Formats: sequence, structure tokens, C-alpha cells
Amino acid sequence: MEPSDISKEIKRLIDLIRYYNECYFQKGISEISDYGYDQLLERLTRLEEAHPHLKWPNSPTEVVGERLSKGFEVVYHQTPMLSLAKTYSEIEVVQFVERAKKMFPNATIDFICEPKIDGVALSILYEKGRLVRVVTRGDGEKGDDVTRHVAQCLPLPQNIQNPPCDAFEVRGEAFMSKAVFKALNSARKAKGEPLWANPRNITAGTLKALDVEGVKARQLAFYGYGFYGPSYTCPTQQAALALLSALGFSVPPTYKVCHNSVEIMAYIRYCAQYKKDLPVEVDGVVIKVNKLAQQDRMGRTSKSPRWAIAYKYQPERAHSTLQRVTFQLGRTGIVTPVAHFSPVPLAGTTVRRASLYNADELARRDLYLGDTIFIEKGGEIIPKVVGIDRARRHTDGQPVRFICSCPACGTLLHRAAGCVAYYCPNKQGCLPQLKGALLHFAHRKAMDIDALGPKTVDTLLEAKLVQTAADLYRLRYDAVNGLAGFQALSTQRLLANIQGSKTRPFDRVLFALGIQHVGETVARKLALHFRSMERLQGATEAELLQLPDIGEKIVQSILDYLKDPYQQTILNGLQAAGVQFILPEPVDTLLPFSSKNFVISGTFQKFTRAECTKLIEAAGGRVLPAISSKVDYLVAGTKVGPSKLTKAMAWGIPILEEDELIKMMA
Ligand SMILES: [Zn+2]
Repeated sequence: MEPSDISKEIKRLIDLIRYYNECYFQKGISEISDYGYDQLLERLTRLEEAHPHLKWPNSPTEVVGERLSKGFEVVYHQTPMLSLAKTYSEIEVVQFVERAKKMFPNATIDFICEPKIDGVALSILYEKGRLVRVVTRGDGEKGDDVTRHVAQCLPLPQNIQNPPCDAFEVRGEAFMSKAVFKALNSARKAKGEPLWANPRNITAGTLKALDVEGVKARQLAFYGYGFYGPSYTCPTQQAALALLSALGFSVPPTYKVCHNSVEIMAYIRYCAQYKKDLPVEVDGVVIKVNKLAQQDRMGRTSKSPRWAIAYKYQPERAHSTLQRVTFQLGRTGIVTPVAHFSPVPLAGTTVRRASLYNADELARRDLYLGDTIFIEKGGEIIPKVVGIDRARRHTDGQPVRFICSCPACGTLLHRAAGCVAYYCPNKQGCLPQLKGALLHFAHRKAMDIDALGPKTVDTLLEAKLVQTAADLYRLRYDAVNGLAGFQALSTQRLLANIQGSKTRPFDRVLFALGIQHVGETVARKLALHFRSMERLQGATEAELLQLPDIGEKIVQSILDYLKDPYQQTILNGLQAAGVQFILPEPVDTLLPFSSKNFVISGTFQKFTRAECTKLIEAAGGRVLPAISSKVDYLVAGTKVGPSKLTKAMAWGIPILEEDELIKMMA
């Protein structure tokens, strides 16, 4: 490269990194994957090393991670809070170990490996055993005082009996456990609120929230990994972890002292294999020289200590070329943009499509066809577009724009006030919506009409035999028999299936209607409270708002549904067909475990496993053989299977002991 090209390239990289920094730290948006960001930073570092005279003052390579936020008191750290040098390369870990060994040719040197937690670094100051202040890492020299926030959402030892010295500082990582994150998102989903992207963003958001009271419900956790007392030094990092633990801090759930690169690599692989079972998101392993005297001798660069390195796992991430964007129509008419890209392997499957969420998100991403996009698996199942490689943008590509009219029926799209989603208002004539509504109605957790799958729905819609759920109950044998795929037996089965669904209880009927934002849980609450469709139809806004966990958005959606003449016709049809519109008074028709799935493992004191299965089934629940996303509870006895236990913990599935199970059935 010509010198002028190199300096241009350096400028380009600096602009990009600053852009992403601003997105991340000021707006809380990650436009690029961590991996992509680290690659940019590494490219810049390499260029600066090769051409030191072209290096900018205040280059992003000199600045430690995070920026300061407005509205917080700024506090200088007593010793700088450096960030660790990061690598994705095993060879660089080996080189780090060799370098350290060379510095101490006549002494033994060992290393301590700790899982790298994806959270927010904090410094906690104690005086005479009392917690006085909590500060974020900030730019490494100074951070934000978040003491007030921490008091709301992060339990830390407030008073330490017999502190090892008068004043000391504890450093570590604040984070949100996978289970809390999952529960928080389920609650948001139930209220129809947008979901949080990852535990790290919400941890940072919680500690920097403007509304301190509002973050009370967000439980954060903390692992300590550093102890600094001017008059008390731990001889090793291992001793520091032991001390922190004795002082009442949680420390990383696993760590290991290693003597050479082979042991370190073995630990890195061990963590890679078991990180999914840990309660917290782990994105790598931190390797530190264990003895503090040796750490001091090794010193630091302007940005990082020389005695530690962070090895980061390659994320479950891929990049690909955006080929086209299509617009998918859901059962409620909501239009979702979907990115189609060249197929790439990602976490064990080949992916070619990922959600782009909504029109605002699409506009914000400012996509062009031909862009290189980063894809990650959110919640390890559904792929999502997490960023664009702006460095490789095709300026001649076509910009991607949201559509104005329905891709299926051509109707002009609408957007409700205060909503991000556009929808097709043509409920009565838009085929994908009709199909979606029927499939939802027939869903296992709704009316459970087994024989009514996607193919059958297509056939019935095409033959114009049904349009809405109410039409299903009016289907006649003669009309169905002889349609594609239907002979005497299959026709009888379908009709018997449909008629059989009339016994489904009222709460499932309410869920089956497919009212926007009314999931299973909300449907059950409505059914239990109102006990009949008639009373629900007569409910006022105020009455609905009084129900626990039912917010304005859900209430509005219910009211809109009930006063819609089209839906009223469907409801009348369903009522005439004999579908359950009331919940009979003795409450036991709504069994404590209806539509809940259980897995049983281990041995029990009060019953055998077979008896346990019968108890659960008698209470309306189902017992499944293995842990999956469909499971609501794991019932664990003694000798519970370790893989079931770790899987349940990883999925955030509540684990019940036998007494708890019995209590729930009462
Ligand atoms: Zn449409």
C-alpha cells in the first residue's frame, strides 16, 4: 500500500470504530458483533504498529473500552482500571505464556484461568468494612458513580466484619444471570413489549438507567475477581479469590491454576464445552499470572496489564452477503422484514434467513443489497442480523426500503399510533392472515385440532369451505370428502377432531382466538377473572386494567378485538357451534397443571416415578421424556440426572423438589 493509502485506511478504521463506539455507549445499540469490532481494532493496531508515524493522537487503540455517560458523578480510580488484551487465537495465548516464562527464567510461574464473564466491570470501595462507593470502569482512569443504582438491584456485602484492612477496593463484574434474563424477557413478551437483546446490554442499561426506582425488579449479580488494599496484599490471585469469597462475595463458579500452555488449553476447551451449563453468559477465559509479585514485575502497557490476557471464544456468528429482503405476514397481519443471504453454517445448522424485526429497525440499519451482514443466533435458535460490515459496503448496491402495501393482498399497510409494527388491515381477505389465524386456533396449546395442519388449512381455504374458525364447525362430510388428500377415513378424522375441540376449556378458547398480545397466561387470567365471554365482553377498560400483569397495550388490544364487528361475527359463530364460552364454577375444571409440561428425574421419598407421573397427569399436566423448550418444570428427586439438571438450568426451567410439587397441586 502507498503511504497515502495507509493513512486513508487508518482514518477509515478510526471513523468506523468511533461510529460503533457511539452506537454502543451512547445509544446502547450494538451495530456490529463483538468479533467484528475486535477485528477492526486489531487491524488498526497492526497498521499503527507497522507505521508508528501515522498513528493518531487519541487513537481508539489507546482508549479503554467504555465512555462516560451524562448525569453521573465522575470518580477517578485510585489505580487505573485497565482492560485486558484480547485474542481469538490459541497461538497468542501460547506466546503470552512463553513471554511470561522468559521473564522469570529461574523461578516457577503459574497461571490462573477464570471464565470471562460478559458483564460490566465495577470497582467497589470499602472503608472500615462499610461499602461507600461503586464506580464503573469508564475510560479506565475515571468512571461513573453508580452507587445509587447498585443499591437497588445488586446485592453486595454492605458491612464486612473484620475487614483485612481499613480501606480496600474490590473489582469484579456485574452481570445478569441467564435465568433472570429469560424471565424478564418472558414478562416483556407477555406484556407485548420489545425484548432485550442480551444480558450484557441490559446490565449496562440497568446501571445507567435514568430512573433509578424503575430498575428495582432487575436482579443483577456480581463475581469478584480483584482485591486491592494499600496495606494488605494477597500473595496470589488464587488467594485473592479465596479472600473475596471469605468476605462474602461470589467469585467465578469455576477457576483453575495451570502450570503450562497445555493445561491452559485444556481449561479453555473445558469451559467451551460446559459454558452453556453455567448460570451466566461466558464469552472466553481470562489467563492471569498467579503471583502478584510477578504481576508487578511484568507491569502494563498504556492500556492493558502485561500479566494477563483474555482468550475469547469465536461467537456463534457468521457473516454473509445480503441477497434480498422479503416481507413476511404474520397471523395478526404484522409485516416482518426478513433478510435472505447466501447460506452459511452457524452453530450446527445452515442458515439462509434472519429477522430484521420491523420498519424502524430496517431504516436504522440502512441496508443495501450486497452488504456484508453479521448474523448471530439469538437465544441459540432464531438467527438475527446483528450488524453490517460498513467497511465492505457496496456503494452501488440498492438500498432496502420497507414496503407500503401488503405483499399478499396489496392492501395499503397501516401503523397503529405508538407501535413500531406495520400491519395489513385486510383481515377478511388476506390469505396468510386467514391461514395463520386458523393454524393458531388449531394449535396444540389452543384448541388442539390435530388433523388441521398447514396443508389441510390450505386445501380448505382454497376450496372456500372455511374462512374463519367458526366455519370449521360448519364443515360437512360431503363437502370435504373428495378434496385433495381427503378420503372417507381422513374426512371423518378431521371432522371428529374439530367437534372434539368443543370440550376445550374457556381459557384455551380465549387463547385460540388469537387476540394480539393475549398469550396463554393472559388468557388464563382473563378466564379465571371473568369466567364467561359475556362478562368479558361487558368489561370496561378500568376493570381490565385492574388485573395483575395486564398492561395498557394488552387491554387496548382486547377492547379493539371485542368491538370489531368482524370478530363479533366469528364469536357468534363459535358460540352457536357450542364452543366453551364459560368457565364452570367449581374451579377444578381449570386444573392446576393444565397445559403445563413436566420432566421427572431422580428418585423420590413420597412416591415412585410412575406415581409422580399419575399425580401430574391427574392435575392436568403432561410428562415428557426429555428437557426441551416446551418443558415448564423439572421435578428433581435425589440422584437427578446431571445432564437434565444442567440443561434445565441452561434453559432457565424452574426445578421443583417433591414437596414443592405437592404444594403446587394443593
Ligand atoms: Zn394483506
